[in-house]
Amino acid sequence: MSALATNYKRKNLSFIKGKGSFLISNDGKKYLDFVQGIAVNSFGHSNHKLVSAINKQSKKLWHVSNAFKIPEGEKLAQKLVKKTFADSIIFQNSGAEATETAIKVARRYFYSIGKEHKNRIICIKNSFHGRTIAAIHASGSKKMTKGFGPKVPGFDHFEYGNHKQLKKLINKNTAAIMVETVMGEGGIKVIPNWCIKALRELCNKKGILLILDEVQCGIGRSGKFFAFEYAKVKPDIVPIAKGIGGGFPMGAVLMTKKVSKAMVPGTHGSTFGGNPLAMAVGNAVLDQINSQLLKHVQNMSAYFISSLNEIKEKYPKIIKEVRGVGLLIGLQLFNDQTIFIKKLMENKLLTIRAAENVIRILPPLNVNKKEIDLALKIIDKVCYDLN
Ligand SMILES: *Cc1c(COP(=O)(O)O)cnc(C)c1O
Repeated sequence: MSALATNYKRKNLSFIKGKGSFLISNDGKKYLDFVQGIAVNSFGHSNHKLVSAINKQSKKLWHVSNAFKIPEGEKLAQKLVKKTFADSIIFQNSGAEATETAIKVARRYFYSIGKEHKNRIICIKNSFHGRTIAAIHASGSKKMTKGFGPKVPGFDHFEYGNHKQLKKLINKNTAAIMVETVMGEGGIKVIPNWCIKALRELCNKKGILLILDEVQCGIGRSGKFFAFEYAKVKPDIVPIAKGIGGGFPMGAVLMTKKVSKAMVPGTHGSTFGGNPLAMAVGNAVLDQINSQLLKHVQNMSAYFISSLNEIKEKYPKIIKEVRGVGLLIGLQLFNDQTIFIKKLMENKLLTIRAAENVIRILPPLNVNKKEIDLALKIIDKVCYDLN
């Protein structure tokens, strides 16, 4: 019997090594891994530049306290600032920590300008911002909060797409609206560009902050560095995590100068956040996310999505919709996706579920056409078998 707690429903499958898009299981079988640790391994398994970066840093210095300057972190923060809307960065270790910090920054900003009453955050009902006590209540999901009361106050929820309800929720106590630019766990729901734009305008009009959670869709996954770039807006605060460490646990909050000024010494901290080992890997990831790679993601995405739509045409009773952006792709089925995912796995293609009967397909950003063709072949075969 396992000594691990029972909080995960694990598949009876484990791996001994991985290379690029592929994983080798403990019984020697080769799997095409289009989960990649849930959009974490941006460059697949054992990317040689990341392996080299971690090896080099591990021989020099792993960890020092944030009581000291950390040049590797300074460097990574500079690069992020140069690439994005942000003026300053706080490093964390995970997505949930990054979203929590985003909430703290929003509240502390209003506190710092003498408007402490502005502390409520508006979120989409059944969104996903992580699993800490605050983050589960930010999500407003019954499933995630059940048994973890008392309810954390300070969050208001509107149904996805219900703009009337959203506008009604904004009052003098509202600090920010926080949404995922693309709802990952929620079933790869891409918030339309005009909506993201309207959110920005609404926040401007009401004098509140816009937090765009790009923990899953950020760092090139969408085909842009950030998914909100498609809408041509500038948010105030952006939590990131999954893709930035390329497999090393890492998170961060990106902010404008206006709000980051509130984060004076002592307002926030993390023992591990931004340590030299993590920062060395983060730098090596970011250095590989250039315009050429983003173009590659867009090209592979266009090919993958149009080919999936061809499969959908062939099996209109199985596949309801192909959706997503970049290499954050969702295959929505008419029925529960459990058997489909199992069959894909039996055919050596790994995928992962999301809400609304969606199968999430998350190849590494450097995936090639041959690997996508292999996935398409397997998906087609499973459709045929289940038809
Ligand atoms: C995964 C995810 C999180 C939480 O990240 P963890 O590292 O699991 O804490 C938060 N927000 C979004 C949008 C995510 O996809």
